[in-house]
Amino acid sequence: MNPSDSSNDPTEISTQQHRHSLDPHVGRYAARTKGMTASEVRALFAVASRPEVVSLAGGMPNLAALPIDSLSEQVASLVSNDGLVALQYGSAQGVPELREQICDVMALEGIQAHPDDVVVTVGSQMGLDMVTRVFCDPGDVVLAEGPSYVGALSSFSAYQANVVHVAMDDDGLQPAALREAIETAHRHGQRVKFLYTIPNFHNPAGVTLAVSRRAEVLEICAEHGIMVLEDNPYGLLGFNGQTYPSLRTQDPNNVVYLGSFSKTFASGLRVGWVLAPHAVREKLVLAAESATLCPPTFNQMLVSRYLATHDWQGQIKKFRENYRERRDAMLSALEQYMPAGCSWTKPDGGFYVWLTAPEGVDTKAMLPRAVTARVAYASGTGFYADQLGSRQMRLSYCYPTPERIQEGVRRLSGVLTDELEL
Ligand code: PMP
Repeated sequence: MNPSDSSNDPTEISTQQHRHSLDPHVGRYAARTKGMTASEVRALFAVASRPEVVSLAGGMPNLAALPIDSLSEQVASLVSNDGLVALQYGSAQGVPELREQICDVMALEGIQAHPDDVVVTVGSQMGLDMVTRVFCDPGDVVLAEGPSYVGALSSFSAYQANVVHVAMDDDGLQPAALREAIETAHRHGQRVKFLYTIPNFHNPAGVTLAVSRRAEVLEICAEHGIMVLEDNPYGLLGFNGQTYPSLRTQDPNNVVYLGSFSKTFASGLRVGWVLAPHAVREKLVLAAESATLCPPTFNQMLVSRYLATHDWQGQIKKFRENYRERRDAMLSALEQYMPAGCSWTKPDGGFYVWLTAPEGVDTKAMLPRAVTARVAYASGTGFYADQLGSRQMRLSYCYPTPERIQEGVRRLSGVLTDELEL
């Protein structure tokens, strides 16, 4: 659906649910489709896309800094010089040259990998889907930070896995809570398949797993025979150019790693990757083959040309500076306008701030009032599998200008203040 065609009425969400209840195919769907529901964030997309609404809801990368003219030359030359290869099917594992370049990208974060162990995917979202398909039977437990990335939660529920959230603080996942979650699941006879974690510049929490906790998290998982799924789309977007030691580097045989060009180049090309231990990689290639035959050759070759001919590291630096300016605008507006009792995280990279409102505020119920006041956010419950997060919201600073961010936060604080006075 084109967001601009859609209704901007907040009641659109319940109208969609009503339509589903009239679906004549309802008795035919596979049981697993029960876990496939429109995420709150997606439903919100339509509501928040009116120009007068400052949307702090979506997580769209800001692509304005991309070198569009030279990219269009690159596209033309790809078609005229290598069109018959670029427009043809390719290997299920991905274009070999790109897999080598992906290893160079990962080396920026200290990861030493072999191109044979890389599988190119249609965005890291496909990696999430494939890993879940390969590892999870219905009823298996997946551990995930609470809150966690919406798209991952929807992959887990599509395969009927049960998500158990593990508490976080400003230093990320809490190792003691991880141990307890595993032991409780095992006591209840549940099979825990993997820990899904976003260690750097978390979506939606905006925090980073402390370096001092990383070895302990890996040890706890290894000790209990649990794999780690490390999702790292934001790792190169640290605002001071800093990177953190990847979990994969510390335990290559027990970590499956997801990477993406969505935040460092162009999300619309849908090029991501999985780096996996050799045996797992075999299964992932088979899963990828049955899903798509092969990732789009054209897009992979375009990414490959871009990496070979552009100053891609300089481009990532531009993105970082852009996002840092927006993060600064958001933090200073929050400081200036938010009513007492609100707290929020202070990200040092990535796209998101996670805000906790005072007791009594229900951010989901408040959202239509916020949209009326021309500001949108993503309410917290969408980032949990178990309806926690009712006092929380995710605020994205990646896309709007600093001025719009400032105005959006001002409007939001007015809505919150009214809410607290009700
Ligand atoms: N993981 C996380 C944590 C994300 O935030 C996103 C996108 N917002 C993805 C995975 C998926 O990204 P893509 O499929 O575009 O690579």
